[in-house]
Amino acid sequence: MARQIFKNLIDNPNIKVSWIKAHANYPGNEKADELAKEATTTGQPYTVLLPTSHIKSVLKARLLRDWQELWTKGNTGRPIHKVLPKVSLHTQNWSRELSIFLIEHGPFPTYLHRFRLSQTDYCNCGGIGSPIHYATECPFTLSWHLKTPAFSNIDPWRKSIAQNKILSNKICELIRFIHQNNDLLKIN
Ligand SMILES: [Zn+2]
Repeated sequence: MARQIFKNLIDNPNIKVSWIKAHANYPGNEKADELAKEATTTGQPYTVLLPTSHIKSVLKARLLRDWQELWTKGNTGRPIHKVLPKVSLHTQNWSRELSIFLIEHGPFPTYLHRFRLSQTDYCNCGGIGSPIHYATECPFTLSWHLKTPAFSNIDPWRKSIAQNKILSNKICELIRFIHQNNDLLKIN
């Protein structure tokens, strides 16, 4: 239909296209309105063949919308949700170690205890063996400590680690150290 209109305009250079005020009693426009209304009530359904690129972009937008809803209302992966609340088709260039720290699934007593792989969630130093414990206060990991965030600032702090190369490198070294010295951290 659009192509036919283009062709008509090209073939008839005397036809000018311009905006006109609606409902101002222009006979041609009133007739077009009348036909459009008629088409919505008594017209035949008409299948419009949309370009593939358009269908792709509509589906992609719908996919992202549904995915976002699931991610926002979901129960799993909440530590990551706090760092990445918005879904995206672009991958995060996180190293394995940084992912372990942010997802909180790794050689941490809190994680091992939660999945019944350990009898306690305590670190050998007496503190609760969570990722933040090793990154800020455990005496065994002093060399890799970052500044302790205020309790209310933990989420922005985790976000800043993901975004800052120096901080994320430090966390990578910390996780490697924990992997290599796991026995040191396990409670005797
Ligand atoms: Zn400790």
